[in-house]
Amino acid sequence: MPETIFSKIVRKEIPAKIVYEDELSLAFHDINGQAPVHVLVIPKRQIDSLEHASPDDAALLGHLQIVAQQVARQLGIHESGYRVVMNCGADGGQSVGHIHYHVLGGRPLAWPPG
Ligand code: 5GP
Repeated sequence: MPETIFSKIVRKEIPAKIVYEDELSLAFHDINGQAPVHVLVIPKRQIDSLEHASPDDAALLGHLQIVAQQVARQLGIHESGYRVVMNCGADGGQSVGHIHYHVLGGRPLAWPPG
């Protein structure tokens, strides 16, 4: 799949409010936040979606979840609670074809989602 805007963010070609970075991943505030805290956690290497992930990606995906935990702690929503969600494909609501977790918190979140 062609690269997305997230690859440009990884390469720092377009700005983002980065909250965490390591050799494998990047976390930055969503440009259209849906909660007081709304951060995206992405791998630097593009995987188009969860449907495109393979068993070889398991450690990377687990790493992204631990980064999500770290971001939640860093931004102070770890005690009130938060949601980590990944949209996959059209019906899942995925709009950017570079796999990512959303970390949402800072207010009570409704369930089920729409
Ligand atoms: P998805 O709909 O694929 O699950 O989530 C994609 C998210 O990326 C959306 O919440 C959208 O607001 C966010 N997004 C799209 N383009 C940009 C961008 O250029 N910068 C940032 N920070 N977020 C973006």
